[in-house]
Amino acid sequence: MTSTSVAADFEALYGAAPDGLWAAPGRVNLIGEYTDFNDGFVLPLALPHTTVAAVSRREDGVLRLHSADVDGGIVQLEVDALEPLSGGGWAAYPAGVVWALREAGHPVAGADVHLASTVPTGAGLSSSASLEVVTALALNDLFGLGLSRPELARLAQRAENAFVGVPCGVMDQMASACAEEGHALHLDTRDLSYRQVPFDLAREGLQLLVVDTRVKHALGDGAYAERRAGCEAGARALGVTTLREVSAAHPPEALARLNDETILRYVRHVVSDNARVERTIALLDAGATRAVGPVLTEGHASLRDDLRVSCPELDLVVEAANAAGALGARMTGGGFGGSAVVLVDAERAEAVSAAVGKAFAEAGYTAPGIFPVVPAAGARRL
Ligand code: ADP
Ligand code: MG
Repeated sequence: MTSTSVAADFEALYGAAPDGLWAAPGRVNLIGEYTDFNDGFVLPLALPHTTVAAVSRREDGVLRLHSADVDGGIVQLEVDALEPLSGGGWAAYPAGVVWALREAGHPVAGADVHLASTVPTGAGLSSSASLEVVTALALNDLFGLGLSRPELARLAQRAENAFVGVPCGVMDQMASACAEEGHALHLDTRDLSYRQVPFDLAREGLQLLVVDTRVKHALGDGAYAERRAGCEAGARALGVTTLREVSAAHPPEALARLNDETILRYVRHVVSDNARVERTIALLDAGATRAVGPVLTEGHASLRDDLRVSCPELDLVVEAANAAGALGARMTGGGFGGSAVVLVDAERAEAVSAAVGKAFAEAGYTAPGIFPVVPAAGARRL
């Protein structure tokens, strides 16, 4: 897939060249999991994998959507008849962005959209956010809306929450919209302030591997809402608005006041993972990238034992990678399948990949997808 081929496909579909081309990446989260709905910290990076959109402006209220990656042809909609939660499969993501922009009072009068993506879908690498953000950025440019990147990310999140019906936090959209090449994005989800943290793997002879387990356990669907409710209950019990405040306002012993064992575990995860983001950033700022490895593994243990959102496949990635000499590893994203990240010395990368593949084969699991990633650029006009 090249931008030239996406433009040519647009022209073949719609009969004229597009007004422009835009790209938005998927993301992988280095550390800070299930913290974004607690006003906490996250540290994602943009992937080299992107969704490219060719888009033309329309003035007649018609929205036409097409994806090279989905069978079924052009989806045609009327912008003033868009209805939240009305289904519509994949088209709900870009249509939801148009809906969210219009709900916020922005005059998006229609568009023709054709897109093609290299972001694996459903692997926990946020193909959905890349799709939303590329649409939002294109419409922002074409209709001269003048919205900032964080504003676009918020509207994309609203599209996914309210229009598609997925209760996600804002990390994915912010990473896709705001990340920079060579950096991880230290995001404060309370006010969407952020800092680009240099993350230079090559300089230290390191690689970051993404391991896509290729499984998605159905358990994950209700678990997110349940963890979210548990964290809110924990915050109420501790007398704070969100768990973000806990580390600062409460010494660890205060957690002992939580007499519900489940809620105590959830709170302990969020508080400790926020701290792990801070530790990781301090290490990156000090140029001690190798030392991030054990922090990742610690984060995995917390997601597995305290939040309990891991699964046997993800645990096996971490165990096999570390046993084969990785510096550290953890599940990333919502869990119950999806992907893990592994930090490894470049010269060990092949051996570690082989060890993970072998462990999966021995366990009778489908072979995982394993690929190295570097921090890539956020959304942009091509
Ligand atoms: P993730 O964001 O982790 O990849 P999600 O389940 O949140 O997984 O989003 C995946 C969904 O996003 C797909 O099922 C599809 O509806 C939509 N999607 C993602 N990429 C594309 C694409 N290139 N073309 C059409 N739809 C896509
Ligand atoms: Mg998604």
